[in-house]
Amino acid sequence: MSTPTRPLIAGNWKMNGTDAALDELARLKTLLGEAPGLAAEVLVCPPSTLIHRAAQIAEGSDFRVGGQDCHWLASGAHTGDISAAMLLDAGASHVILGHSERRADHGETDAIVREKTKAALAGGLVPIVCVGETEAERVEGRANRVIAEQLAGSLPDESGAGPMVIAYEPVWAIGTGRTATLADIAEMHAHMRALLVERFGEAGRAARLLYGGSVKPSNAAEILAVPDVDGALVGGASLMADDFFSIVVAA
Ligand code: PGA
Repeated sequence: MSTPTRPLIAGNWKMNGTDAALDELARLKTLLGEAPGLAAEVLVCPPSTLIHRAAQIAEGSDFRVGGQDCHWLASGAHTGDISAAMLLDAGASHVILGHSERRADHGETDAIVREKTKAALAGGLVPIVCVGETEAERVEGRANRVIAEQLAGSLPDESGAGPMVIAYEPVWAIGTGRTATLADIAEMHAHMRALLVERFGEAGRAARLLYGGSVKPSNAAEILAVPDVDGALVGGASLMADDFFSIVVAA
């Protein structure tokens, strides 16, 4: 294994989108179809209610579909939850895990994210494991330590056996229009790479490290050019096909 070859541009729709939003996916399909040979792999993670229909639209196109969370168990009495097998069955290939909004809204700890990551891998999905420091942690000079702890706690040993995707999303940059500086992104991604290589060897070298937090068409190219940035996790700017496509092209 070597360093990642193709960048991954992943869209996270969060709790946005009903039937009408599928028009944007059809538009994305058209845009991608008109631009063969793009460098990036493309993934869209709509709410779970749309995954099946999104996957149908993705057929014959160059983008894939992912979930935004899964349970750590395969099935059972867990009202409102969704398993890795269900996501796979609906047509997903990836799943976002440990997003800071889930960590905040649902009290997800590193240990829970680790169990979910195991479940995703066992269920045949590629997990996209999210980490990120708060603004206070950065101001206090603790960002590197926080990320090291989150990576250590959220990734199971099994991660070394499959394709590894990590998203670095500073909490204060999500949905705020503020991005980390290019120097801070470079430093954090080099830090994460070193930690992953130390723990997982070649698999860590091959891991895709995404940056997330207010990525948009106007800043995507410079962020994606930072060493050890192997793609982006895009929230708000993934909702409109034309914006998202501009970011895909920038990769
Ligand atoms: P944003 O969200 O691009 O809207 O900042 C990114 C994310 O939370 O994945």
